Amino acid sequence: MHALVVQQLRKVYRSGFEALKGVDLTVEEGDFFALLGPNGAGKSTLIGIVTSLVNKTSGRVCVFGHDLDTEPEAVKASLGVVPQEFNFNLFLPVAEVVINQAGYFGIPRREARRRAEFYLKKLDLWERRRSEMRLLSGGMKRRLMIARALVHRPKLLILDEPTAGVDIEIRRAMWAYLRELNAEGTTIILTTHYLEEAESLCRNIAMIDDGRIAAVAETQALLAEL
Ligand code: ADP
Ligand code: ADP
Repeated sequence: MHALVVQQLRKVYRSGFEALKGVDLTVEEGDFFALLGPNGAGKSTLIGIVTSLVNKTSGRVCVFGHDLDTEPEAVKASLGVVPQEFNFNLFLPVAEVVINQAGYFGIPRREARRRAEFYLKKLDLWERRRSEMRLLSGGMKRRLMIARALVHRPKLLILDEPTAGVDIEIRRAMWAYLRELNAEGTTIILTTHYLEEAESLCRNIAMIDDGRIAAVAETQALLAEL
Protein backbone atom coordinates (compact mmCIF):
# COMPACT_ATOMS: atom_id res chain seq x y z
CA MET A 1 0.00 0.00 0.00
CA HIS A 2 1.23 3.50 -0.79
CA ALA A 3 0.98 5.85 2.17
CA LEU A 4 1.44 8.88 -0.06
CA VAL A 5 1.45 9.40 -3.79
CA VAL A 6 2.16 12.85 -5.22
CA GLN A 7 2.00 13.33 -8.98
CA GLN A 8 3.05 16.34 -11.02
CA LEU A 9 2.36 18.66 -8.12
CA ARG A 10 2.68 22.37 -8.84
CA LYS A 11 2.19 25.41 -6.65
CA VAL A 12 2.23 28.95 -7.90
CA TYR A 13 1.59 31.44 -5.09
CA ARG A 14 -0.52 34.49 -5.73
CA SER A 15 2.68 36.52 -5.91
CA GLY A 16 3.48 34.52 -9.06
CA PHE A 17 6.25 32.57 -7.36
CA GLU A 18 6.40 28.92 -8.42
CA ALA A 19 7.29 27.03 -5.23
CA LEU A 20 6.67 23.50 -6.63
CA LYS A 21 7.51 22.76 -10.24
CA GLY A 22 6.03 19.31 -10.87
CA VAL A 23 6.84 17.08 -7.91
CA ASP A 24 6.46 13.28 -8.11
CA LEU A 25 6.88 11.30 -4.92
CA THR A 26 5.77 7.95 -3.51
CA VAL A 27 6.09 6.92 0.13
CA GLU A 28 5.31 3.31 1.08
CA GLU A 29 3.33 2.27 4.11
CA GLY A 30 5.62 1.71 7.10
CA ASP A 31 8.39 3.89 5.76
CA PHE A 32 10.32 6.50 7.69
CA PHE A 33 10.89 9.10 5.01
CA ALA A 34 12.82 12.37 4.90
CA LEU A 35 12.21 15.29 2.63
CA LEU A 36 15.61 16.92 2.81
CA GLY A 37 16.36 20.32 1.34
CA PRO A 38 17.60 23.83 2.02
CA ASN A 39 15.40 26.68 3.21
CA GLY A 40 13.09 27.83 0.47
CA ALA A 41 13.20 24.48 -1.40
CA GLY A 42 9.44 23.98 -1.13
CA LYS A 43 9.22 21.48 1.75
CA SER A 44 6.61 23.38 3.76
CA THR A 45 4.60 24.10 0.64
CA LEU A 46 4.50 20.37 -0.17
CA ILE A 47 3.53 19.46 3.39
CA GLY A 48 0.99 22.31 3.41
CA ILE A 49 -0.74 20.92 0.34
CA VAL A 50 -0.86 17.33 1.64
CA THR A 51 -2.33 18.60 4.91
CA SER A 52 -4.89 20.93 3.29
CA LEU A 53 -3.33 24.16 4.56
CA VAL A 54 -2.27 25.29 1.10
CA ASN A 55 -4.21 24.95 -2.16
CA LYS A 56 -2.36 23.27 -4.97
CA THR A 57 -2.24 24.81 -8.42
CA SER A 58 -2.30 21.43 -10.18
CA GLY A 59 -1.36 17.80 -9.76
CA ARG A 60 -2.59 14.93 -7.67
CA VAL A 61 -2.21 13.87 -4.03
CA CYS A 62 -3.37 10.51 -2.62
CA VAL A 63 -3.04 9.37 0.98
CA PHE A 64 -3.64 5.65 1.62
CA GLY A 65 -5.59 5.51 -1.63
CA HIS A 66 -7.77 8.53 -0.83
CA ASP A 67 -7.60 11.33 -3.37
CA LEU A 68 -7.27 14.76 -1.76
CA ASP A 69 -9.64 16.28 -4.34
CA THR A 70 -12.49 13.82 -3.90
CA GLU A 71 -12.00 12.52 -0.32
CA PRO A 72 -10.40 15.33 1.67
CA GLU A 73 -11.99 14.15 4.94
CA ALA A 74 -10.56 10.63 4.55
CA VAL A 75 -7.17 12.17 3.86
CA LYS A 76 -7.39 14.34 6.98
CA ALA A 77 -8.42 11.35 9.11
CA SER A 78 -5.40 9.34 7.91
CA LEU A 79 -2.93 12.09 8.75
CA GLY A 80 -1.37 13.54 11.85
CA VAL A 81 0.48 16.79 11.34
CA VAL A 82 3.16 18.46 13.43
CA PRO A 83 3.43 21.96 11.98
CA GLN A 84 6.57 24.02 11.99
CA GLU A 85 4.88 26.99 13.62
CA PHE A 86 2.17 26.84 16.23
CA ASN A 87 0.69 30.07 17.39
CA PHE A 88 -2.80 28.74 18.04
CA ASN A 89 -4.25 27.40 21.32
CA LEU A 90 -1.62 29.37 23.22
CA PHE A 91 -3.88 30.11 26.18
CA LEU A 92 -5.27 26.58 26.44
CA PRO A 93 -4.01 24.19 29.10
CA VAL A 94 -1.76 21.52 27.62
CA ALA A 95 -4.22 18.65 28.20
CA GLU A 96 -7.03 20.63 26.51
CA VAL A 97 -4.92 21.14 23.38
CA VAL A 98 -4.87 17.37 22.92
CA ILE A 99 -8.46 16.76 24.05
CA ASN A 100 -9.80 19.48 21.70
CA GLN A 101 -8.02 17.92 18.78
CA ALA A 102 -9.61 14.56 19.62
CA GLY A 103 -12.98 16.32 19.67
CA TYR A 104 -12.31 17.59 16.17
CA PHE A 105 -12.13 13.95 15.05
CA GLY A 106 -15.32 13.02 16.88
CA ILE A 107 -13.66 11.08 19.70
CA PRO A 108 -15.85 11.15 22.83
CA ARG A 109 -14.52 13.25 25.69
CA ARG A 110 -13.87 10.39 28.13
CA GLU A 111 -11.84 8.50 25.53
CA ALA A 112 -10.13 11.76 24.53
CA ARG A 113 -9.01 12.31 28.13
CA ARG A 114 -7.67 8.76 28.30
CA ARG A 115 -5.68 9.23 25.11
CA ALA A 116 -4.42 12.67 26.18
CA GLU A 117 -3.07 11.10 29.37
CA PHE A 118 -1.40 8.30 27.40
CA TYR A 119 0.34 10.56 24.88
CA LEU A 120 1.25 13.30 27.36
CA LYS A 121 2.91 10.68 29.57
CA LYS A 122 4.71 9.18 26.56
CA LEU A 123 6.03 12.60 25.58
CA ASP A 124 6.98 13.54 29.11
CA LEU A 125 4.47 16.38 29.42
CA TRP A 126 2.05 14.96 31.95
CA GLU A 127 3.32 17.11 34.85
CA ARG A 128 2.67 20.18 32.69
CA ARG A 129 -0.89 19.19 31.72
CA ARG A 130 -2.45 22.18 33.49
CA SER A 131 0.00 24.79 32.17
CA GLU A 132 -1.09 27.07 29.38
CA MET A 133 0.64 26.09 26.18
CA ARG A 134 2.31 29.50 25.83
CA LEU A 135 4.29 28.82 29.03
CA LEU A 136 6.03 25.74 27.62
CA SER A 137 9.56 25.77 26.24
CA GLY A 138 10.07 25.33 22.49
CA GLY A 139 10.93 21.64 22.85
CA MET A 140 7.89 21.03 25.06
CA LYS A 141 5.59 22.80 22.61
CA ARG A 142 6.88 20.61 19.84
CA ARG A 143 6.31 17.45 21.90
CA LEU A 144 2.81 18.70 22.63
CA MET A 145 2.22 19.09 18.89
CA ILE A 146 3.28 15.44 18.47
CA ALA A 147 0.81 14.32 21.15
CA ARG A 148 -1.89 16.42 19.47
CA ALA A 149 -1.08 14.93 16.06
CA LEU A 150 -1.33 11.36 17.36
CA VAL A 151 -4.55 11.54 19.33
CA HIS A 152 -6.77 10.23 16.50
CA ARG A 153 -4.21 7.46 15.79
CA PRO A 154 -3.31 8.45 12.23
CA LYS A 155 -1.59 5.93 9.95
CA LEU A 156 0.71 8.63 8.62
CA LEU A 157 2.51 11.20 10.76
CA ILE A 158 3.97 14.23 8.99
CA LEU A 159 6.40 16.51 10.80
CA ASP A 160 7.67 19.79 9.40
CA GLU A 161 11.21 20.45 10.74
CA PRO A 162 10.40 18.65 14.02
CA THR A 163 13.63 19.42 15.84
CA ALA A 164 14.46 22.89 14.53
CA GLY A 165 15.64 24.95 17.48
CA VAL A 166 15.35 22.04 19.92
CA ASP A 167 18.37 21.31 22.10
CA ILE A 168 20.35 18.11 21.65
CA GLU A 169 18.99 16.16 24.62
CA ILE A 170 15.34 16.78 23.73
CA ARG A 171 16.14 16.09 20.09
CA ARG A 172 17.54 12.64 20.99
CA ALA A 173 14.46 11.85 23.06
CA MET A 174 12.18 12.92 20.21
CA TRP A 175 14.15 10.80 17.76
CA ALA A 176 13.84 7.77 20.06
CA TYR A 177 10.10 8.26 20.32
CA LEU A 178 9.65 8.67 16.56
CA ARG A 179 11.65 5.46 15.97
CA GLU A 180 9.41 3.62 18.43
CA LEU A 181 6.29 4.93 16.73
CA ASN A 182 7.56 3.85 13.32
CA ALA A 183 8.50 0.40 14.67
CA GLU A 184 4.91 0.08 15.88
CA GLY A 185 3.68 0.66 12.33
CA THR A 186 3.10 4.39 11.89
CA THR A 187 4.43 5.70 8.58
CA ILE A 188 6.46 8.86 9.18
CA ILE A 189 7.47 11.65 6.82
CA LEU A 190 9.53 14.52 8.09
CA THR A 191 11.06 17.55 6.47
CA THR A 192 14.49 18.67 7.50
CA HIS A 193 17.39 20.72 6.24
CA TYR A 194 19.59 18.76 8.57
CA LEU A 195 21.39 15.84 6.90
CA GLU A 196 22.24 14.08 10.17
CA GLU A 197 18.57 13.96 11.14
CA ALA A 198 17.56 12.41 7.80
CA GLU A 199 20.42 9.89 7.95
CA SER A 200 20.00 8.78 11.48
CA LEU A 201 16.21 8.44 11.43
CA CYS A 202 14.98 7.76 7.94
CA ARG A 203 15.04 4.71 5.68
CA ASN A 204 14.53 6.73 2.50
CA ILE A 205 15.44 10.28 1.62
CA ALA A 206 14.11 12.54 -1.12
CA MET A 207 16.19 15.60 -1.83
CA ILE A 208 14.20 18.65 -2.81
CA ASP A 209 15.68 21.80 -4.24
CA ASP A 210 14.11 24.79 -5.93
CA GLY A 211 10.67 23.19 -6.15
CA ARG A 212 11.85 19.92 -7.68
CA ILE A 213 12.81 16.49 -6.38
CA ALA A 214 16.53 16.26 -7.14
CA ALA A 215 17.01 12.65 -6.02
CA VAL A 216 15.37 9.83 -4.04
CA ALA A 217 17.51 7.18 -2.39
CA GLU A 218 17.72 4.65 0.39
CA THR A 219 19.71 6.14 3.24
CA GLN A 220 22.03 3.10 3.26
CA ALA A 221 22.91 3.57 -0.41
CA LEU A 222 23.39 7.28 0.08
CA LEU A 223 25.78 6.77 2.99
CA ALA A 224 27.76 4.16 1.05
CA GLU A 225 28.42 6.75 -1.65
CA LEU A 226 29.82 9.35 0.71
P1 ADP B 1 -2.51 30.90 -1.70
O1 ADP B 1 -1.97 30.95 -3.11
O2 ADP B 1 -2.38 29.51 -1.10
O3 ADP B 1 -3.86 31.49 -1.52
P2 ADP B 1 -1.23 33.34 -0.86
O4 ADP B 1 -0.37 33.67 -2.03
O5 ADP B 1 -2.54 34.04 -0.71
O6 ADP B 1 -1.47 31.75 -0.81
O7 ADP B 1 -0.36 33.56 0.46
C1 ADP B 1 -0.80 33.05 1.71
C2 ADP B 1 -0.10 33.81 2.84
O8 ADP B 1 1.32 33.64 2.83
C3 ADP B 1 -0.33 35.30 2.73
O9 ADP B 1 -0.78 35.75 3.99
C4 ADP B 1 1.03 35.86 2.39
O10 ADP B 1 1.21 37.12 3.01
C5 ADP B 1 1.99 34.90 2.98
N1 ADP B 1 3.30 34.95 2.23
C6 ADP B 1 3.54 35.69 1.14
N2 ADP B 1 4.80 35.52 0.70
C7 ADP B 1 5.38 34.64 1.52
C8 ADP B 1 6.68 34.04 1.57
N3 ADP B 1 7.64 34.33 0.69
N4 ADP B 1 6.93 33.13 2.54
C9 ADP B 1 5.96 32.83 3.42
N5 ADP B 1 4.71 33.37 3.43
C10 ADP B 1 4.43 34.27 2.50
P1 ADP C 1 10.93 25.30 2.76
O1 ADP C 1 9.90 24.73 3.66
O2 ADP C 1 11.69 24.25 2.00
O3 ADP C 1 11.84 26.27 3.45
P2 ADP C 1 8.73 26.77 1.59
O4 ADP C 1 7.79 25.79 0.99
O5 ADP C 1 8.41 27.40 2.88
O6 ADP C 1 10.19 26.12 1.61
O7 ADP C 1 8.94 27.95 0.55
C1 ADP C 1 9.30 27.69 -0.81
C2 ADP C 1 9.37 29.02 -1.53
O8 ADP C 1 8.06 29.56 -1.66
C3 ADP C 1 10.19 30.07 -0.81
O9 ADP C 1 10.89 30.82 -1.78
C4 ADP C 1 9.15 30.93 -0.11
O10 ADP C 1 9.58 32.26 0.05
C5 ADP C 1 7.98 30.85 -1.08
N1 ADP C 1 6.68 31.00 -0.42
C6 ADP C 1 6.24 30.28 0.63
N2 ADP C 1 5.00 30.66 0.95
C7 ADP C 1 4.65 31.65 0.10
C8 ADP C 1 3.50 32.45 -0.08
N3 ADP C 1 2.44 32.29 0.71
N4 ADP C 1 3.50 33.36 -1.06
C9 ADP C 1 4.57 33.51 -1.87
N5 ADP C 1 5.70 32.77 -1.77
C10 ADP C 1 5.73 31.85 -0.78
